[in-house]
Formats: sequence, C-alpha cells, structure tokens
Amino acid sequence: MIQAVMPTYGRYDVAFERGEGAYLIAADGRRFLDFAAGIAVNSLGHAHPHLVRALQDQAAKLWHTSNLYRSPGQERLAERLVAASFADTVFFCNSGVEAIEGGIKLCRRYHSAGGKPERWRIITFDGSFHGRTLAALAAANNPKYLDGFGPKVDGFDNVAFNNLNEVRAAITDETAAILVEPLQGEGGIRKAQLQFLRDLRAVCDEYGLLLFLDEVQCGMGRTGRLFAHEWAEIAPDVVAAAKGIGSGFPMGAILAREEAARGMVPGVHGTTFGGNQLAMAVGNAVMDVMLADGFMERVRERGEALYGRLMAIVKVFPEIFRSVRGAGLMLGLECVVPAGDVVNRLRDSGLLTVAAAENVVRILPPLVIEQSHIDEAAEIIENVAAKWESGGG
Ligand SMILES: *Cc1c(COP(=O)(O)O)cnc(C)c1O
Repeated sequence: MIQAVMPTYGRYDVAFERGEGAYLIAADGRRFLDFAAGIAVNSLGHAHPHLVRALQDQAAKLWHTSNLYRSPGQERLAERLVAASFADTVFFCNSGVEAIEGGIKLCRRYHSAGGKPERWRIITFDGSFHGRTLAALAAANNPKYLDGFGPKVDGFDNVAFNNLNEVRAAITDETAAILVEPLQGEGGIRKAQLQFLRDLRAVCDEYGLLLFLDEVQCGMGRTGRLFAHEWAEIAPDVVAAAKGIGSGFPMGAILAREEAARGMVPGVHGTTFGGNQLAMAVGNAVMDVMLADGFMERVRERGEALYGRLMAIVKVFPEIFRSVRGAGLMLGLECVVPAGDVVNRLRDSGLLTVAAAENVVRILPPLVIEQSHIDEAAEIIENVAAKWESGGG
C-alpha cells in the first residue's frame, strides 16, 4: 500500500527535531554536523537568532496580502539586492524553479517587446540542473528526469558545458538567451571556466542575446561572493536566485537589468505567494547578516581552510578520493569508491553531505561555520576513509 506521503524520494530513516547552528539533532537524540545545509539552503545555519526573531516578530503582525498591494518588505529587499549586484530590478517567487521559469519568460518577452518574437529559444548545457517543472527539465535535458513525461517542452538547445564552439554553432535567428550555472551543483560541482563565462558574455553582446545565469545553488554567498559570476567580473542580464536567499524559508528571486526586463510590464507574470510578508522579513534578515562587514571574506577564508583539509585527505587516501573541486563553501569530493556509499558512511559517523553526479560528494556547510566545524568534519572524513582502507566499516 502506498504511503500517505507520496513516495517520490529515497529518504534516509532519520527524523530531525531541531537544529542549532551547524548541527541537526534527531528525535532519537543523535547529533549530526550538517554539511548538507538542506542542499545549500540553510545559509546561516539552523535557528539563527536574528532570523528567528525576524520571523517571530513578523508572524505576530502580518503573513500575507498577495501582490495586489504595495509591499514595503519587497521594496526594501529588492533595493538591497539591486545595490549589492548587477541588477536594476527584482521579482520575488517561492522556489528555484519558479525563478528559472520566470527568467525564461523574461528572456522571451525581452525579444517580443523588442519586435523579435521569433527569438524564443534558449541555449543550455549538459550536466545542468534547473529544477523540476516541464520547461526546466527540458532546459537541463537530463534523460533521467525527463523519462515518462511525454514530449519534451520545445525551445531549448543543449550543448557541451565549457565549449564555446558548440555555443556558437547552436546560435540561430531564433535564439533568445544563454542559460548557464556558473558552478554546477547537482551536475557534480563542475565549474564554468571564468574565461568561458566571459566568452559567453561577449557572444551574447555580439548576437543580442541575454545572458541568464542559474545561481540558485551557487549564489547568495555560497562561493564567497554574493553571486558566483562576480569571480569572472562579468555582468549578466538575468540571474535566478533561491536556495540560500531565505536560509530555509521558501523563497526565490529573478534579478535583472532594466533593459532585460523591458517586457515585464503589469500583468505579464505573477505569483500568489511570492514575496509575502513572512518571506520578506526573513529575506531582509538574511541580508542583514550577509551584507555585514567581513561576511563574504569569512566565507572565503573558511572555504580555503576546508579546501586545504580536503586536499590533504585526498593525498592520504588516493584509493578512496580522487580530487577536490568547487569554490568557497560549495565543494565537491570526487570519489574513487561509490560516492553514495561515502555519503552513507559519513552520515552514519555523524556528518551530513549530499551526493551529486560524476561520483562526487557535495560539501555544502552553512556559511557561518567556524574552524572547529571544519576540523570536526575533516576528522570524520579521515576516520571513515581509514576504516574503509583497513577493510572495516
Ligand atoms: C535546486 C536548484 C534548482 C531548483 O530549485 P527548487 O527550489 O528545487 O525548485 C534550480 N537550479 C539549480 C542550480 C539548483 O541547484
């Protein structure tokens, strides 16, 4: 008989009861160091006092009014995101895939508003992940996720990641935009080369295309900059953000330059829940912390420290691990042994991580970890690897 909760996930048999910073505590009392962070979502860890207070204060005042009325919380958060980024304007939604879908619509409207409605196709890349709506699945073109859902949504031309020749060859009179993750998450912590991102910018300028970045996972401080594309020193036209933006409160955002958003006039796009008062209270509280002096610098320092520890572990255990990849606190441990088994054994030893493609274990701690958490995680990984090599475990 089917479970009451629709069985669309393979779930591990542990139920967490509460969280404290970088730790999760299970109902049975077990304590886990959380280097999964809800898949890069709990950017400020669990039960951050500033966020708890913001949510509780707002909860007693007002939760939701719809977007029929002005929203001071949206205005404030949008102004702060605009001031801190390439963007001139922001649309709030509830999830990553909604930011992707809305961004796709924005790209198509840009061209139709400019008198070129025939430009509606989007170039995308292998290994990418953009979420689970029908269009986002078509964009990512991962056969595993498309299977059984009927004809693929048209309008996406998928080419090899980091391959500029394939990009150029795929451009036609119908191309509207290029959609790319600056650092692929689900795809196995695969980096777009910085020069590739710069080349994409140049190609978009050459052909009048929009550069649309999926920063749902790599954005909001994850790589040690507010947005990962800042490392390439380019300005995109559109960015989808989500995961870390609410530190656990469901929230997403489309950020765009003014020109790119020229087709987004009243009535063309909307959401009932997006940007409600609870979400904006939390989003603004997250920004209070992330925009504070030294926050990103500390993420970069912790990222470097963690990267260094992982590199040392790879050197000691070459039969288990092959390499370390990623940036900031979005790191991947490429495994020789099955990554899924590594994730299981780490979890059994009290460390939560996430598997990804290319036999990679994703390491995505809260951005607020201390050196002691890095030491603790490294010791758990070392112990699991040592036990593995000695044939135990
Ligand atoms: C998680 C993710 C999405 C989808 O976000 P949801 O909130 O699950 O809809 C899209 N793109 C990337 C890069 C992601 O990591």
